[in-house]
Amino acid sequence: MITLAIQKSGRLSEKTVKLLQECGIVFENGGSSKLKSKAGNFPMQILYLRDDDIPECVADGIADAGIVGENVYLEKRKPLTIVEKLGFARCRLSIAVPKSMKYSSLKDLNGLSIATSYPNILETFLTDNRINANIHEISGSVEIAPGIGLADAIFDIVSTGSTLLSNGLREVETVIKSEAVIVAGENLTDEKQALLDKLLFRIRAVQLAGNRKYILLNAPNEKIETICGLLPGMKSPTIMPLSTAGWSSIHSVIAEDEFWEKIEALKAAGAQGILVIPIEKMIL
Ligand code: ATP
Ligand code: ZN
Repeated sequence: MITLAIQKSGRLSEKTVKLLQECGIVFENGGSSKLKSKAGNFPMQILYLRDDDIPECVADGIADAGIVGENVYLEKRKPLTIVEKLGFARCRLSIAVPKSMKYSSLKDLNGLSIATSYPNILETFLTDNRINANIHEISGSVEIAPGIGLADAIFDIVSTGSTLLSNGLREVETVIKSEAVIVAGENLTDEKQALLDKLLFRIRAVQLAGNRKYILLNAPNEKIETICGLLPGMKSPTIMPLSTAGWSSIHSVIAEDEFWEKIEALKAAGAQGILVIPIEKMIL
C-alpha cells in the first residue's frame, strides 16, 4: 500500500484528482470533512492536506509521496525528491515593486524590506545575488503590503499579473517558475517504490497523450509523400488503401498546436476528410 498526500481543497486539488482518475485510480472524492480515502482498484490511500503540510508529511513518512507546487517544495526544504513534473498549476514567484518606484537592476533592492510568504526561496535568491534586503514574512495578502506601508516591495506568486496591476505593483524579477510536481520520500521500501513506479508509468502515459491527437485523412496516392512529410508521427504514419482506386487513408499522431499550423498545408497537398481524435493514453 502506498500513501499519497494531495491538497484538500485549492488550486491543485481538482487537477490532481482528475489526473489520478485518468490513471484509472478510483477513490471516493474527499468531501470537506474527509481526511483520507482508499482507492478501490489500486493499493493506494489518499491523504487530504493543506499544501503547506505535504512536504513535511512525506519527509516524515506519514505519506510516501505527495502532489504539491514546486514553490512549496522549494520553500519547505525537506529531504524529498521530485519524481515527476506534472505540467499544471503553473505560476512564477516574482519580486514586484510599486509602479512609482525607480527600478533598474537588482541592486535597487538593497536596503529595502520585502514582504513574502516564501522567506526561504527569497533568502537564497538574495544571498546568491549578494543583495542585502530585509525579508518581512507574512502569511497572506502579500500584495497589499507596500500599499499599507508594511514593506517596500513584495515577493509572491504571479500567474497572470492582474493582481499586481490592481495593487499598483510592477513585476521586476522572476525568481523561480513553478508547476505541480510529485515528491517522494528518500527511503521508500521496495514494495512502495514498485507501487510508485506503477503510478508514475500511468501518469507518464497520460502526460504523453497530453495535447496530442490522432489524425486520419484521405489523400490521392501521388500526394502521400508530401502529406507524410507534413506529419511527424510516432515512428511513421500508417497508410491503408481506400476502396476507391488511387486513394489511401493516412493515420498519424500530431500535437494539437502543430495541427492548426499544418491544416492549410495538408489541405493544399490534397488531404480530404480530415478527422482529429483525442488520445487518452500513450505508451512509447
Ligand atoms: P492551502 O489551503 O492548501 O494551504 P493555498 O491557499 O496555500 O492552499 P492555493 O492558492 O490553492 O494554495 O495554491 C496551491 C498551489 O497552486 C500554489 O502553491 C502554487 O503552486 C499554485 N498556484 C497558486 N496560485 C496560482 C495561480 N494563480 N495560478 C496557477 N497556479 C497557482
Ligand atoms: Zn497553502
